Amino acid sequence: MSTKSRRMVGRFAPSPTGGMHLGNARTALLAWLHTRTHGGRHLLRFEDLDTGRVRAWAYDATRRDLDWLGLDWDEEYIQSERLEFYAHALNTLTTYPCTCTRREIAAAIQDSAGAPHGSEPVYPGTCRSASAPGDPRPAARRWQVPAETVCVPDAWTGAILCQDLPSEVGDLVLQRNDGVFAYHLAVVVDDAHSGVTDVLRGADLWTATPRQVALQRALGYVTPRYLHVPLMTDFRGERLAKRGGAPPIMTLRESGESPERVLSELARGLGWLVPEEVTGSELIPFWQEVWSRRPTPDLS
Ligand code: GLU
Repeated sequence: MSTKSRRMVGRFAPSPTGGMHLGNARTALLAWLHTRTHGGRHLLRFEDLDTGRVRAWAYDATRRDLDWLGLDWDEEYIQSERLEFYAHALNTLTTYPCTCTRREIAAAIQDSAGAPHGSEPVYPGTCRSASAPGDPRPAARRWQVPAETVCVPDAWTGAILCQDLPSEVGDLVLQRNDGVFAYHLAVVVDDAHSGVTDVLRGADLWTATPRQVALQRALGYVTPRYLHVPLMTDFRGERLAKRGGAPPIMTLRESGESPERVLSELARGLGWLVPEEVTGSELIPFWQEVWSRRPTPDLS
């Protein structure tokens, strides 16, 4: 099936680890605008596999925040209810058990000739062939990444990111030793199963995109179009975070603030010249305008 003939499908995929703050709301707004601009289907997906960080109240709080902002969705699902799909996908990939601890991995990196690339330590593949039989420790499952370089264009920024999988990414854990499936696996399986054509998300996930595209290829999935939008920062230039006390939407909602004012502030933060109060639908022409002027990735 050609990409052109498929109906556009977009999504917003919050982690229910707390209430939404302004930064999450801005990403949610842009994802919604992008889908609605294209007459697509919009999905809400709760990414709750890391159960230790999940807050039970956050699902409903997020739904209410989105509702209050007028950012509707056509379908909702929850990752923790889809474990069988991740297990199935994992079984079709070339993986191996790994009992290495973080400390052992750090030591192996130190001993190997290559220093870790950038800020992210690259797993040197210690367990690839020597998955210590009889090791009683619970094992994680690592994916043996193909020996190739994956390049991904970003449809929004026009940037292209290439990563050599073995040397810059390394064999990734797709299931932790406590059984929890990795975000990278779940996101790829879910986007493919629900026919997501456009992934608009925060720029913090840009460097994770080549490994997700590599997983899509290994699983025979179509790669969606990616748009990474800047994260909101505070006056120090630090990214807004739930932990850092960024103003929760819930607080604004409960204090009688108008959602149209909040949307207006978010839009003005993007440099859009909008009235003091504005609805999501009224922002669609603004997204249409910036989208039509986006740079084209240079794939030459
Ligand atoms: N759950 C991720 C987050 O809240 C987003 C994942 C994605 O959009 O691919 O940051």
